[in-house]
Amino acid sequence: SLTIGIVGLPNVGKSTLFNALTKNDVLAANYPFATIEPNVGVVGVPDARLTKLAEIFGSQRILPATVDFVDIAGIVRGASEGEGLGNKFLANIRESDAICQVIRAFKDENVVHVDGKVSPKDDIETINTELILADLQTIEKVLPRLQKEMRIKKDIAPKVAAVEAAQAILEKGDTLFSQGIVQGSEKAEPLHDLHLLTTKPFLYVFNVDEDELTDDAFKAEQSALVAPAEAIFLNAKLEQDLAELDEEDAMELLQSVGAEEPGLATLARVGFATLGLQTYLTAGPKESRAWTIKQGATAPEAAGVIHTDFQKGFIKAEVISFADLVATGSVADARAAGKARMEGKEYVMQDGDVVEFRFNV
Ligand code: GDP
Repeated sequence: SLTIGIVGLPNVGKSTLFNALTKNDVLAANYPFATIEPNVGVVGVPDARLTKLAEIFGSQRILPATVDFVDIAGIVRGASEGEGLGNKFLANIRESDAICQVIRAFKDENVVHVDGKVSPKDDIETINTELILADLQTIEKVLPRLQKEMRIKKDIAPKVAAVEAAQAILEKGDTLFSQGIVQGSEKAEPLHDLHLLTTKPFLYVFNVDEDELTDDAFKAEQSALVAPAEAIFLNAKLEQDLAELDEEDAMELLQSVGAEEPGLATLARVGFATLGLQTYLTAGPKESRAWTIKQGATAPEAAGVIHTDFQKGFIKAEVISFADLVATGSVADARAAGKARMEGKEYVMQDGDVVEFRFNV
């Protein structure tokens, strides 16, 4: 499955956040015999629709979609120079499908900042600089060879042009992602085999003081620093406390700081979307479940996520939108009201589709 690497300078609250994430680990909760890797946190994507479906269908359990977060320790200035830890750090980032930067905004004098002062803007630049330098090194290694090759193989000209354009962006100090060259998109396609770090989608977690959680002006200012990436604001210590409480006490604590949901819930949801993923839903007496697919997946591809045989033998998908199902109250009533659609092989799955597949075995 796809993973999000958590990176950040030392002492910004990564371990605190990661501890909170692993306390929420859905693998541990739902699959007691699963192997749990120490640096991976598997977090459920909160989805109130599943609770509603479980009510309608009398489901015994709810299985949300999940996101895998990987704790990538060890960014240091000079990581791109490839010394020891630096090399391992870059290799770990390369394996991630998205990069989540944790940025310190909290102002605790008892917690030392590596650069002596709390400055989100400077910290973001420090980390981005390491990633940009690493990408420039990758390009400098391959570009001369590509340029030489182009004299014989004219058809690689577009690729060479794309690599040169990427180099120019990086030399200006910008990440490729910030310029719309993002992994999986057509623009990034010619760069694919270079595995550049800054083509990965980024998201930012600002670890803020509690009073900043509701400070909209502050949040708008920080969000602007990282756009087009998403910014999430949370307090890592509070998240750790929340993870230890039962639901009712957690809600009370959240309300006391003026937050609507745990920061981890927001992080899971935004992280999921940043990976380019979406869900569709199935429901029955056994379970109500969200299944993970790529945005834009077709009905047979969606079926294949449940079982490869479902994809091979795909006939049709009976689709009811979640809203229609809730409005009518049951599958039978939705059918009677003409709200159940039979979709074929070309159908592109929509968010909130409640699905039953028909297939040949
Ligand atoms: P890491 O080096 O990025 O993994 O940072 P840690 O999670 O180990 O946190 C460094 C220190 O900052 C620890 O003493 C934490 O207790 C403290 N810390 C983490 N998050 C917060 C926060 O939101 N507020 C305050 N005041 N301290 C925090």
